[in-house]
Amino acid sequence: NTFAEIDLGELLNQNIRRCKYVKPTPIQRHAIPIALAGRDLMACAQTGSGKTAAFCFPIISGIMREQYVQRPRVGRAVYPLALILSPTRELSCQIHDEAKKFSYQTGVKVVVAYGGAPINQQLRELDRGVDILVATPGRLVDLLERAILSLMMIRYLALDEADRMLDMGFEPQIRKIVEQMDMPNRGVRQTMLFSATFPREIQRLASDFLSNYIFLAV
Ligand code: AMP
Repeated sequence: NTFAEIDLGELLNQNIRRCKYVKPTPIQRHAIPIALAGRDLMACAQTGSGKTAAFCFPIISGIMREQYVQRPRVGRAVYPLALILSPTRELSCQIHDEAKKFSYQTGVKVVVAYGGAPINQQLRELDRGVDILVATPGRLVDLLERAILSLMMIRYLALDEADRMLDMGFEPQIRKIVEQMDMPNRGVRQTMLFSATFPREIQRLASDFLSNYIFLAV
């Protein structure tokens, strides 16, 4: 059981080897093929399970196939193709670091935006273009209100540690964000929801945001 057996493409496989990943973890072994097949996914995953790669690999692989799709540039707004939402600055930075390693030399551009830090440098970074945006919900809403960013072209949405985001009170922001994606192109987006626990509120998010999804508990 190796990464080479999963159809991620040679460039991504090289980067995986460079990260010294030899064997997929259980969540990766099961989630990646489901995501590559285009299905929505709700996965039970703890920290340390390898969930970051489980959602990053299919997103990067998908964007490598699509990144030459023409994207509009209206005014100042930029149009990412993928959004990864996570509860904290620390987790967002961690995901950003990993996603950058995974996308080395692929041409896929990853940018991070989080609250509690000056927005200007994040604005400059976004202005240079972005394929995958990793963000905390509050800062993302701020960027949307400034019309810096449009979610109209989002093809992949990953919600990481969804239970923690709800515990931190981010549900209104998350709903506002997903609403913006749904306006023009509902049904185009592929959504992956990762959570350590599955209380009612998470199940409700899943039934509101995911369509015809596969539930994975490893
Ligand atoms: P995560 O659960 O995504 O935070 O990953 C936990 C740690 O395991 C991170 O340091 C990853 O770089 C590492 N990791 C993830 N997948 C693999 C793998 N297949 N082989 C070796 N290390 C991995």
